[in-house]
Amino acid sequence: MSGQAMRNEPVSGIPRTLFGPEHELFRDTVRRFLEAEILPYHEDWEEARLVPREAWLKAGETGLLGTSIGEEYGGSGAGFLFDVIVLEELGRSGATGPGWDLHAYIVAPYIEKYGTEAQKRRWLPAMSAGKAIAAIAMTEPGTGSDLKAIRTTAIRDGDDYVINGSKTFITNGINADLVLLVTKTDASLGARGISLFLVDTKTAGFRHGRNLKKIGLKAQDTAEMFFDDVRVPATDMLGEANDGWRHLMDELVQERLVVAVRAMATAEVALEQTVAYTKDREAFGHKVFEFQNTRFTLAQLATDIQVGRVFTDRCIALHAEGRCDAATAAMAKLWVTELEGRVLDACLQLHGGYGFMWEFPIARAWADSRVHRIYAGTNEIMKEIVARTL
Ligand SMILES: Cc1cc2nc3c(=O)[nH]c(=O)nc-3n(C[C@H](O)[C@H](O)[C@H](O)COP(=O)(O)OP(=O)(O)OC[C@H]3O[C@@H](n4cnc5c(N)ncnc54)[C@H](O)[C@@H]3O)c2cc1C
Repeated sequence: MSGQAMRNEPVSGIPRTLFGPEHELFRDTVRRFLEAEILPYHEDWEEARLVPREAWLKAGETGLLGTSIGEEYGGSGAGFLFDVIVLEELGRSGATGPGWDLHAYIVAPYIEKYGTEAQKRRWLPAMSAGKAIAAIAMTEPGTGSDLKAIRTTAIRDGDDYVINGSKTFITNGINADLVLLVTKTDASLGARGISLFLVDTKTAGFRHGRNLKKIGLKAQDTAEMFFDDVRVPATDMLGEANDGWRHLMDELVQERLVVAVRAMATAEVALEQTVAYTKDREAFGHKVFEFQNTRFTLAQLATDIQVGRVFTDRCIALHAEGRCDAATAAMAKLWVTELEGRVLDACLQLHGGYGFMWEFPIARAWADSRVHRIYAGTNEIMKEIVARTL
């Protein structure tokens, strides 16, 4: 097996079949880019609690942000398998600061699918180049899981809408130039009164709130947003009025797979790191790896990871063909992030005290990944989605 294949099949006895040579070339580009432009600075960005815009511009130049965006709008139109490669390399490298997944593989597809020509021309080339940074704002202080209970309103006034409300926990919330905003255009209608807007954060009445302090993802800006009489033209609505819920439900499939893909890669690399660590570390005159507890724990994790990898790859393949349904995406997000949690906790334990030290990748991964069971819909909500189909 080549070194390259080894790197992408960490514990697998079952070969991955998703990728061809063009994907692996791109993977090398992404990996080299992360090693040169991201990893050396990541710790500083954790202190700053922000990834600087220059890093976004460089990622844009290297083609990392345009894989989901059509060539006519400045992207490569390469498709979901290329998104997956960036996600996996971010997961493997522990580069959890850049919120590219949300920007490029979650927000961009909304605009690509539901945007008018003018909206696409306005935002997609700038997003692909990393010149405009995007966020998606669904969650509010009073509601997260119960999305249809949001209270941010957009009220029609002539040719405009006037937006009032607040959002919280918004990834890229400080850097954002563009917010894909979830509002109620008809508060009496529940889910059927939801509409989406593309809001330029330079618009009067928009305000960033605090950059929130978190237990992980420390280099990522996660912020509050306030909208006080923000007046936007009706042409800034994304999709039809009161049709937002349908678009959200459709696009949450990809959002949940994005989380599952990263979680799977994070679990795999944690196992590799822990095998290496326990083969090096000694206790009672033995390598830690030689204790039966260590071997059995790692063997169980390797088995679980192999099962997870096959399942995840199948979901990726289905989604690349446009055939992954909402329940399957929910299962992937639920199962893989629970697996990731088990793997990281056990691997941290096998590192002993060093596992608790921030300078060790396993400590960071443990803290950074905890949110995978919470955002993009909590894992309890994933069970609800699956249960509805039974
Ligand atoms: C780091 C970070 C980044 C985020 N980024 C974004 C972003 O970019 N954009 C955005 O819009 N949001 C974002 N979020 C918000 C995230 O999606 C929400 O936190 C999440 O959906 C849960 O909502 P909540 O926090 O209001 O929890 P709640 O909905 O209050 O849930 C609290 C608990 O109740 C449980 N619960 C709720 N309803 C049910 C039910 N029906 N059955 C069983 N249990 C239930 C939940 O599972 C959870 O355990 C982010 C959050 C974090 C922490």
